[in-house]
Amino acid sequence: MTDLATPVFEATATKRRPKTFDELAGQEFVVSTLKNSLQSGKIAHAYLFSGPRGCGKTSAARILARSVNCEKSLEEAPCGICDNCKSLGQGASMDLIEIDGASNRGIDDVRKIKDEVLFPPQTGRYKVYIIDEVHMLSKDAFNALLKTIEEPPPYVVFIFATTEIHKVPATIKSRCQQFNFRLISIEIILEILKKICDENGINAEESALFWIAKESTGSLRDAFTLFDQVVSFCGDNIREEQIRQKLGLAGLEKINFLAEACAANDTSAAFSQVDALLESGAAIEQLVIDLAGYFRNMLLLKNGISRESILGYRVDQFSVKVLETFDSIRLEQALEIFLTCYRDIRYSVSPRFEFETAISKLAWLNQWVSPQELKTAIEEARYVLQAQGATVVNNRNPDNMPANKPSGNYANRHYSQSEKPSLSGEFRKMLAEKNKQATQEAEENDDAPAWSGHINNVQDNEQAPPEVAASETAPVDRLLKIIPGTVINQ
Ligand SMILES: [Zn+2]
Repeated sequence: MTDLATPVFEATATKRRPKTFDELAGQEFVVSTLKNSLQSGKIAHAYLFSGPRGCGKTSAARILARSVNCEKSLEEAPCGICDNCKSLGQGASMDLIEIDGASNRGIDDVRKIKDEVLFPPQTGRYKVYIIDEVHMLSKDAFNALLKTIEEPPPYVVFIFATTEIHKVPATIKSRCQQFNFRLISIEIILEILKKICDENGINAEESALFWIAKESTGSLRDAFTLFDQVVSFCGDNIREEQIRQKLGLAGLEKINFLAEACAANDTSAAFSQVDALLESGAAIEQLVIDLAGYFRNMLLLKNGISRESILGYRVDQFSVKVLETFDSIRLEQALEIFLTCYRDIRYSVSPRFEFETAISKLAWLNQWVSPQELKTAIEEARYVLQAQGATVVNNRNPDNMPANKPSGNYANRHYSQSEKPSLSGEFRKMLAEKNKQATQEAEENDDAPAWSGHINNVQDNEQAPPEVAASETAPVDRLLKIIPGTVINQ
């Protein structure tokens, strides 16, 4: 009963490799176009399949190779039972040549192809060349290849596959029929995994399969590989909890718990949770990725996006408290904190310190003030101060500067009593607090030289800062003082 004794599902990716176009999952557009062109007998001399890894490019190329050589009509192809289909399927046919562009990237390799294409196919109608990772070919190799695909013998079909279409020269692209393969959706991957479980008598929690589908990020091959790995330690009974324990994953509930502690400004609870997670074997890098993903999801939820396949979880699995506490700006900032943390931990003396700093930042995030909010607050303050009769000079915008500053009640000329704006209670409190602080600082710094002219020429009264102007601009200056910190009430 050891794990070693159950290698039942080894290489699901190989076992489940599609053999017909209908079995090719998640590429409906590619499939229908290829099938149509086959049925109308239009076979191109060169195809270019591009798209992310593990989404079916090589499989589609092999199916196409079998289809063009199948002994049955093109509508039924590939039948899978004729001699050509069988020998091509077993990799025993001389009419299908698969080349890895990464290891055969030189001009000599392409020259070899050039010589070989002169010999017609042995048993099939077409001689098919599949060149994988074609973008890896050298410039000379591409040039040599170009001549071959420009005027190939009528019995030759080239199928190029690449994950990096932008590295394929335009001259090659323009001579190929291009097909873009897409990432496969979580829903489709989940359905396929469920089917595999049913067929093999495996009892699996839906949430566990969902996790595998989500982790594979659109690559069916990655999903199969991960599935095999999970089966190797779970056996016939796949549980989400078991996967988490084995792979050291935090799980959404624990991430929710951690985020809730931070939303409640409870740094102490947050740190205890971090400690418990690390103690249970969770990796710091993984936690940072999980938290970045978590706040990305929260941001999407906040903006009304609730599709399970985008979020990777059901909406009701996310913490309502966290969603209610943080607004969009703060969720964006939280995401930023963890994206920065991920970059920083690579070069840090201690990834744990970086992570704890990020958690600490998250724990006072709801007191954080964005530069945009601060700007709005200053604008509001200026407006209110003007309305209350103070003369405020906007040093930044010369248009606002009165050419001839009138004496007396300048602001009241612009605002009638009924137009006077009122401040929100919280803003009023903040303003009072900041003004108090700024006044205290100003008093403390009274002895310090305010400007260089003052030191160099103490006796020169004319060079001292003019007292009247300073008092007029003081309220705004005080507010501007807090800009660099962008943290209020800390
Ligand atoms: Zn056949």
